[in-house]
Amino acid sequence: MTGIVVAIDGPAGTGKSTVSREVARRLGLAYFDTGATYRVATLTCLREGVNFDELSDVAAMVATMNVELILDPQNPHVALDGEDVSRLIRTDTVALSVSKVATNLEARPILQQIQRDVIAREVEGGFSKGAGVCAEGRDVTTVIAPEADVRVLLTADEDVRVARRAGEGADAATVREAVLGRDKKDSTVVSFHEAAEGVVTVDTTHLTIEEAVQAVLDLAEAARQKGSEGS
Ligand code: C5P
Repeated sequence: MTGIVVAIDGPAGTGKSTVSREVARRLGLAYFDTGATYRVATLTCLREGVNFDELSDVAAMVATMNVELILDPQNPHVALDGEDVSRLIRTDTVALSVSKVATNLEARPILQQIQRDVIAREVEGGFSKGAGVCAEGRDVTTVIAPEADVRVLLTADEDVRVARRAGEGADAATVREAVLGRDKKDSTVVSFHEAAEGVVTVDTTHLTIEEAVQAVLDLAEAARQKGSEGS
């Protein structure tokens, strides 16, 4: 018996992180924010003064960075060289450069492999002790975990997505850039606005967090039943 994999993607401001954390908590799964790997890679490059235009230098830095991911949905965090950088990776400085790492086609496969390894570890053991993982990020349903038991694309209207992020406190221009600008830059390498085949779209525009969580839990339950019928 191996654990389940719930994969959730979608653009910024759809509730992806909040919903994924809560789904992981309720199902006793690890919570894996794949975006954190891109963010910590960006922080490393900024700290080490790596020029983002030097694609191989960035890839080399990413391949050797010393990162630990703590996948507890109640208290997820990220350590770089033993230092907790969970807050630092959320700063505007990191957010404004992260697409440079995400669109670097030498660095991206390295991060994708790290992500696949994390997921593989959780279905056998790891933080969840083999219960499984809820992984979120723009390409998890398609590239990272296309075989996931549950694959969900969260969407929401643009204005609602910007408004949700604005509610988190930053100034208006930064919010628009963080939500729409970053999605546009990221769109050059990943497609996360349209659901791929087999991926269920949940439009959160008019849903509360609880309703969105429930929608994913219902899909997980349906997958579980299907799995037990098949075994
Ligand atoms: O989800 P979050 O906003 O933390 O992601 C930060 C950035 O990491 C995204 O803007 C994108 O550039 C990159 N990313 C990605 N693929 C993922 C997750 C994140 O390209 N699966």
